[in-house]
Amino acid sequence: MLLSKGYEVHGMIRRASTFNTGRIDHLYHDPHGNGDKVNLYLHYGDLSAPQSLTDLVYNVQPDEVYHLAAQSHVRVSFDMPEYTGDVTGLGTTRILEALRRSGSKARFYQASTSELFGSANPPQNEDTPFLPRSPYAAAKMYAYWMVRNYREAYNMFATNGILFNHESPRRGETFVTRKITRAAASILAGRQKNLYLGNLDSKRDWGYAPEYVEAMYMLMQIDQPGDFVIGTGEAHTVREFLDEAFGYINLDWHDYVHIDPRYFRPTEVDYLLADPTRANQMGWKPRVTFRGLVRIMMDADLEALGLPSPG
Ligand code: GDP
Repeated sequence: MLLSKGYEVHGMIRRASTFNTGRIDHLYHDPHGNGDKVNLYLHYGDLSAPQSLTDLVYNVQPDEVYHLAAQSHVRVSFDMPEYTGDVTGLGTTRILEALRRSGSKARFYQASTSELFGSANPPQNEDTPFLPRSPYAAAKMYAYWMVRNYREAYNMFATNGILFNHESPRRGETFVTRKITRAAASILAGRQKNLYLGNLDSKRDWGYAPEYVEAMYMLMQIDQPGDFVIGTGEAHTVREFLDEAFGYINLDWHDYVHIDPRYFRPTEVDYLLADPTRANQMGWKPRVTFRGLVRIMMDADLEALGLPSPG
């Protein structure tokens, strides 16, 4: 979205021995080719390495920083609590410090999360007290407060976007929505027989990621930084997601889905539902419905296997 608006975009990339740029390969332009120049630059760095962040700020001199990086998987955060605290929590402080020390006037966006609300009663808005229920949420809570403190202490334009779950065909394959749409397509293709899931009763306010990116951008262009809830105001169970996904291709998920306790979380977040009144008043309203979202994701996973869209 930033590229389409004419921005020069610099991304930080973690070195791995396998390729990990699949989601942006369609944007990347081979510097040795002859095509149009794309204003996208990637730099090696890591949230656990402060030097790499200082270098990045110094070299790029950014106007806007969208901090979306994290160890972002809730279930995995129970297996790697300290790493999650380091990367998701302290990592945010390291970027804030790199900006502050350099005297940067950059606007800073923090990917806060509805997981902060944890077991707080729905619907949740900007005034709802946080009750985090995972190492991931606790790390994000620390980051949330550091952002607020840097805003107040140093007068930085630092904003928390408290986004509820947002999904798209690019969602990581181990999050429940994408896990379901990929498996449903694969089952229809005859490549897979079973799908193993955890808690089917939890409710989430699932929205369409491209619209949430518009919200992030909007929050960075307004006059004042702050803390803002972004969500649809509609929640569904994992079960309902299964109904929509498998129903779309005329299959009954009960024939394929099995419960594997491995996917249960030691503490679960049962019910997340946004009260997006404030965002709505600012002019942000999602257009893609729950059913529409499931179908966009299903169509993409069907297409990846060479199957036609039923819609
Ligand atoms: P989260 O809201 O950030 O934790 O996003 P997820 O997509 O990982 O999980 C959403 C909900 O789906 C949680 O309540 C999970 O417990 C539930 N869930 C049920 N089965 C699964 C599964 O197999 N994988 C994942 N990731 N979540 C599952």
